[in-house]
Amino acid sequence: HASDPAAGDRARALDAHVFHSWSVQGQTNPFAIAGGLGTTVWDHDGREYLDFSSQLVNTNIGHQHPKVVAGIKAQADILTTVAPATTNLVRGEAAAAILAHAPGFQSVFFTNGGADANENAIRMARLHTGRDKVVSHYRSYHGNTGAAVVATGDWRRVPNEYARGHVHAFGPFPYRSEFWSQSVEQECERALQHMRRVIEAEGPESVAAILVESIPGTAGVIVPPPGYLAGLRELADRFGCMLILDEVMAGFGRTGAWFAHDDHDVRADLITFAKGVNSGYVPIGGVIVSPEIHETFSGRVFPGGLTYSGHPLAAASVVATLDAMASEGIVDNARRIGADVLGPGLAELAAKHPLIGEVRGVGVFWALDLVTDPGTREPVGAPVIGALKGALLQRGLLPFAADNRIHVVPPCVVTDDEAQQALAIYDEAFAEVGASL
Ligand code: PLP
Repeated sequence: HASDPAAGDRARALDAHVFHSWSVQGQTNPFAIAGGLGTTVWDHDGREYLDFSSQLVNTNIGHQHPKVVAGIKAQADILTTVAPATTNLVRGEAAAAILAHAPGFQSVFFTNGGADANENAIRMARLHTGRDKVVSHYRSYHGNTGAAVVATGDWRRVPNEYARGHVHAFGPFPYRSEFWSQSVEQECERALQHMRRVIEAEGPESVAAILVESIPGTAGVIVPPPGYLAGLRELADRFGCMLILDEVMAGFGRTGAWFAHDDHDVRADLITFAKGVNSGYVPIGGVIVSPEIHETFSGRVFPGGLTYSGHPLAAASVVATLDAMASEGIVDNARRIGADVLGPGLAELAAKHPLIGEVRGVGVFWALDLVTDPGTREPVGAPVIGALKGALLQRGLLPFAADNRIHVVPPCVVTDDEAQQALAIYDEAFAEVGASL
């Protein structure tokens, strides 16, 4: 890839015309990405970076996978758009390809991304049960639309709290327990007891759904203890409400399984997805619908839809992505890299650098919980995270940072070599920043 600094200057100058998400406008980020391939991206000077952010944890198949790019191009020659009510071959193929990984489910409602997937799952649960409230977790992110952002359990909810009928409960988090737990088993039991009490106190007959991320992602890759998700299923059955599992970030390979909850012996009523289903090459998301909920709308209108629902270019990219992920063993690669390289490698870094309080994760979905003191577990502040981001970028690694954490989230196609290179870079960056404190 050729160096073209003038293009970089132009990209930065024109960025002033872009109103950015979740940002103070005018605080421009000088880092411009010109292109990418697999786990690597490069800037306009031709400098390469290992993309250990997967952008927003979405490029599960890596950048510019040739089969996915070819699938989009081929569909562009056939039909680039079609109304959502029209029968269309590639849309049906995409739905079938998704359902192949969700046995027992009936159909897929397509959206443009993850937020509107949760939005519509919530609506389905409300109409199916005739109830109103949605119980979700503090420490969660469900997207930036009306109900999804209010179901969210982080700072982004508070300035956007205009939807009604949302209730929050704490989920299990052994490292930072809200329940004074001494063990993972106790944390699981107490979190389930807390959830049960919240539903009882809210009035179970008013609760339409429990909505949780199978593994809370942006909140810190908080893998639930064994039995927690199955316990939520039992509560949903006991109180007659729906269980919605948000697999937007955790799904389609990130954990080394097609869905993160595949490892947790739990059945959802609705599964929401986006990101990894096509790595975001063309915007798409959706809701995977159980036969019971599908049946509710077989004789009555579902009052919801989107002009671009099941967009043909996006649908073609889903078909190509899922096909390539299966035939190239990409999901298995994520599992193996996590178990053999990233898991042990990150644990070694934690043993060496006192800044790293805990390493959590599975597959290519990891968080380093950074602390000022391993004893008190006091989270590090923004300056430490800023220094680490700078040190990583300077060494050619594109990081993902959230609150007091660095998330280690490469594409599922990451190779052993790339993972080893990244571990060496993290090691150097932690040494440099640790020494400066
Ligand atoms: N749900 C989860 C778990 C997410 O991580 C995200 C995005 O990060 C969303 C929903 C929202 O998805 P989107 O940004 O595609 O609307």
